Amino acid sequence: MATGGSLAQAVRKPTLTPKAIIHQRFGGKASFTVEEVEEPTQNECPGLAILQKGPCLYRCTLELSDFTVVSGSFKKKKDAEQSAAQMALEKLGINPSADSPTAEEAWRELIARVKYIFSNEFLSALHPLSSHFKAALRRIGDANGSVPASVIAICDGKPNNLCKIINPTVDSHPFLVLSYIMRAAAGLQELVVSPEGRFSIWRKDPYPPDVIESSISQQSDVAECITIMATYIPCSPEKGVEPVVLNISTTGYYLDVIAQKLGLSDGNMVLISRSIGKASSETRFYFAAPKSYPLDMSSDLLNAKAVTLEGPLNARATYICGQDIYGDSILASIGYTWKGQDLFYEDVTLQSYYRMLISKIPNGVYKLSREAILAAELPLTFTTKTNWKGSFPREILSSFCRQYRLLEPAFCISNSPLKASLELSRSNKKPEVPETAEQEREYANGNGAVDAKSTVFGSSFTCEVKIYSRCRALILECAPNILYKKQNDAVQSVSLKVLSWLNTYFKDTAMPLEKQKQLANVFGIKFYPQNFSKEVVQCLSVYNCQKNDTLGGKDPESYDVVENVATSVDIEGPDSGLCPSSGSLLCVSYSVSLVTKGDELRKELLESIEDFEFEMGTGAVIPCLEAVVSQMSVGQSACFYTELPPEDLVLAAAKDSANALAFLSSPCCLEYSIILLRVTEPPEDRMEQALFSPPLSKQRVEYAVRQIKESCVTSLVDFGCGSGSLLESLLEYPTSLETIAGVDISQKSLSRAAKVLHSKLVMKSDPDAPCRSIKSAILYDGSITDFDSRLCGFDLGTCLEVIEHMEEDQACLFGDIVLSSFRPRILIVSTPNYEYNVILQKSNLTSQEDDPEEKIQSQSCRFRNHDHKFEWTREQFKQWASELAVRHNYSVEFSGVGGAADQEPGYASQIAVFRRGIQPKDDDLGEQEVYACQYKAIWEWNRSKPPVTN
Ligand code: SAH
Ligand code: MG
Repeated sequence: MATGGSLAQAVRKPTLTPKAIIHQRFGGKASFTVEEVEEPTQNECPGLAILQKGPCLYRCTLELSDFTVVSGSFKKKKDAEQSAAQMALEKLGINPSADSPTAEEAWRELIARVKYIFSNEFLSALHPLSSHFKAALRRIGDANGSVPASVIAICDGKPNNLCKIINPTVDSHPFLVLSYIMRAAAGLQELVVSPEGRFSIWRKDPYPPDVIESSISQQSDVAECITIMATYIPCSPEKGVEPVVLNISTTGYYLDVIAQKLGLSDGNMVLISRSIGKASSETRFYFAAPKSYPLDMSSDLLNAKAVTLEGPLNARATYICGQDIYGDSILASIGYTWKGQDLFYEDVTLQSYYRMLISKIPNGVYKLSREAILAAELPLTFTTKTNWKGSFPREILSSFCRQYRLLEPAFCISNSPLKASLELSRSNKKPEVPETAEQEREYANGNGAVDAKSTVFGSSFTCEVKIYSRCRALILECAPNILYKKQNDAVQSVSLKVLSWLNTYFKDTAMPLEKQKQLANVFGIKFYPQNFSKEVVQCLSVYNCQKNDTLGGKDPESYDVVENVATSVDIEGPDSGLCPSSGSLLCVSYSVSLVTKGDELRKELLESIEDFEFEMGTGAVIPCLEAVVSQMSVGQSACFYTELPPEDLVLAAAKDSANALAFLSSPCCLEYSIILLRVTEPPEDRMEQALFSPPLSKQRVEYAVRQIKESCVTSLVDFGCGSGSLLESLLEYPTSLETIAGVDISQKSLSRAAKVLHSKLVMKSDPDAPCRSIKSAILYDGSITDFDSRLCGFDLGTCLEVIEHMEEDQACLFGDIVLSSFRPRILIVSTPNYEYNVILQKSNLTSQEDDPEEKIQSQSCRFRNHDHKFEWTREQFKQWASELAVRHNYSVEFSGVGGAADQEPGYASQIAVFRRGIQPKDDDLGEQEVYACQYKAIWEWNRSKPPVTN
């Protein structure tokens, strides 16, 4: 243990973890729920026989009596729990580290620490700082053996923490730490020399030779000189950012090389920023300590005022760093780390610099996450997990907050609309949140949102988010009154709203306050201009000096207007008739090049992706790309030109910055060439959600529930249960059901179903739950065209939207097997009504109306879902069902959901309800006669028995 540490040990009581504090205060009233973040992964469902994919990330929801918080994503469950607990403590205003040392104790500890790091013992310690000490011994001339104070400040965490206790303003004035280190050194005159007005310290007595020898020998001797790329950022915004090469010999000290590039004699006067960028921990800004840097050794130690450095602020460096940087600056990735004694280094190219710059804006983060800087845009709506490509809104919002050194966004989820509105009205200091429900419903349309006024079916969630500065000033909040079926959708959607607004804000930071407020209203956001601009003030100077910059940001109102209108579009190849429409998932291959505008055509490739997927109509790509693609059919290629986007984007995309810069110096534009590879029709349920309220799937469940109630059945089997949506929903209602079963051939769907049922039946076995009548549940892997005697004697069978996924003869076979062998009292079968598709696809058909021939043709190949093998008209369905009923002595009635029976073109989903007659036909098997086990039970639950674990 370091000598400096003992003092801290003596005064500090053991600190409790956030979770422990929550437990102390709330005990059993605090409920932690950890969920997985990615797709189905680890097997959390005892008894599920299907192997599932590897580990994933965890997120924790902590429910307290008054509110709920949701943590970020973590690799370990316990980290997620601690983080949620920490968020709750912050919300409650509880400071867990209330018993840290006093300022005097911290000061004494700082002196002890400085003493320790100049000890013999420390030179051979494995510590990034001791590597600097060794390198300092190789410095030549006056500087030999002297260690820059800024190195001590960045490599050793202890002084920083101690200085924060001595003087809390250190947090916002990090270079104050240097003053405290120098001052501590001044108190150790018998040990070190710390000349006034300079930032370096050295030992009074040299290290004993044996100490030097043993520590030097630890270093591997790489003889060559290393060459790395760094970026030079002049203070004057008029001067361009340039690459700079650092040549560092093994016998030299890298800080002296950087100093030289900054025009300084040696590294002792170089200040070093905190690290930035997640690529490498050693990416930092280096700059000359301003001449006027006050080393106020005389002032009262504990009340020393934060020193404001004088000198010209480097706006670009300051903006990227989030910490004041003065004068010309070098951005480099180099330094000693914990990993070993050797110098770590990496190139910081112009491209890396511009990537850091654009990643300060949500749209830029999204573009980078898709590696599609010149094509992708942050979409305007969140479309459930599977269709969203790139970083999720919640993650982007978190990284935005980190970038701007704000607290992690605080989400608050409520699962009843009443509670949400109560909570809003309770906080009194907050002004009324403007009513924007109308616009919000528009944004949310078709992506999992439920109309707030419609009857709430099962659970539904609203989510609000608040963003606070480090000093806990509220800077913005967004509390849309929209209900989502899934918690995740609610969280992602509210995050996206905030991100979209931030984008518009950064697009025009000079916008008058009134207009800014109006715009925020459109997004349902309340922001506190004073607090907000305080946090993002540095960006203002950077963006305001970039004229006509459209970096990031997209105005939702102007979305339809194609800016940068493609001057000419060449579409090549035969028309395959497979055209994208709004909601389609597209896959294109594209490349973007810089081309000169003059006579001599020169090209420089900037970006290319072989298979780039996006959803039409959500603003997920730049407007002109979407406009062009909407005119293409699968297999065609196109080429178009656009005006140059902001230079930042071009340089963030360009691998060869020098070439790109050469192009940019003369008139040029961007050339996009694209090939439309695939179009996937909008999935059925998305269409159903968008067009029906409540969604069609919900209406089908309600229909089944009515039948169950009317006929007092006690057992149900769902043929083709998929992910268990029907079975799950049935648990929300009080019914007479005691036994439920599901069969499907998709293992993936079944394991999802098992998880859902497991969590509903086992984890939350609330004695008052509506499903308390249910005694057992089972899921089978098998084809419903096979017979399994374990499902004989069930009262009611459902087969919702399944038969159209089989070939027609298989659908007929299924009908025969069910009614002859399983022989439920009632069988409910639903399938799409083909005639209704005209309404569903109206938007697609209008464009082809001039040619009725073509219209019919294209219509005939378009089913609601690409997995459908057929879709029947009302007539076809009636014929199938009636003949089937007659064959097996059942009666049949027709009905449906979505639309109406007596109105063309009938119901959207047609339903046949079969009822068993008294006598089975002779050739029908009857329940008891045949024993067959063709299905494989993959999950089973019984109320009486404990769950099966394996
Ligand atoms: N009934 C569910 C799922 C409909 S999707 C719902 O309404 O949400 C159609 C389902 O039928 C898919 O899960 C598919 O795996 C299943 N399916 C298709 N052919 C099948 C067969 N021969 N046997 C069992 N399930 C089948
Ligand atoms: Mg279907």
